[in-house]
Amino acid sequence: MPISRDDVLEWIRACAKVLAENRDYLTQLDAAIGDADHGENMDRGFKAVMSKMPDLSEKDIGTIFKTVGMTLISTVGGAGGPLYGTLFLQAGMKTAGKMELSLSDWCGIMEAALNGVVTRGKAEPGDKTMVDGLTPAVNALKQAAENGASLDEALRLSAEAARQGMEATTPLVARKGRASYLGERSAGHQDPGATSSYLILKAAADTWAGLN
Ligand code: ADP
Ligand code: MG
Repeated sequence: MPISRDDVLEWIRACAKVLAENRDYLTQLDAAIGDADHGENMDRGFKAVMSKMPDLSEKDIGTIFKTVGMTLISTVGGAGGPLYGTLFLQAGMKTAGKMELSLSDWCGIMEAALNGVVTRGKAEPGDKTMVDGLTPAVNALKQAAENGASLDEALRLSAEAARQGMEATTPLVARKGRASYLGERSAGHQDPGATSSYLILKAAADTWAGLN
């Protein structure tokens, strides 16, 4: 079974839940190398998204993703909100009018979403940002699809790659965002945005387990 519109709505709800549960954790990570607001930002943004859910139950997947993106941009300041907003807006462009998604669709969506984040934030892999979680996740997803993996297998491998990318941010010196103001002192701390991107992709793998 492919990913249905209702599955997409369930993933968005799962993102809101996991970001609320990890609000303090993400804020602690941001306290070490930023301004201690990443957890609050993501939680506030997804709570605002949740308030729009009743309007989305009959909409196509493109409209759902665009609404998520616009809501994040309008309710979350700083770097994280607009970057995640861009990610979902790009996903929305790829899915206009669609009511279900295959693994191949998901590969194209994730690639476009990552490209949107990179175009907007100008971060490269190794700069200690969410790009370090997202890039290996997209690569693993495409590799799994090429190898003939099922949808849920590919999503699990993708989330696992995001987790490794997230952990690999710890020794890095930040070159983008607020953490870059710390220079060498940013090393030794896991990046908050790479962590939230892992949580979001893990939520997809968990919510869509069993699909193929
Ligand atoms: P702010 O840094 O404005 O307080 P947040 O705390 O919500 O915003 O988000 C911080 C996260 O945003 C960082 O941990 C990093 O992953 C990500 N980030 C910051 N700048 C960039 C960028 N230019 N490109 C990609 N991601 C970035
Ligand atoms: Mg911050």
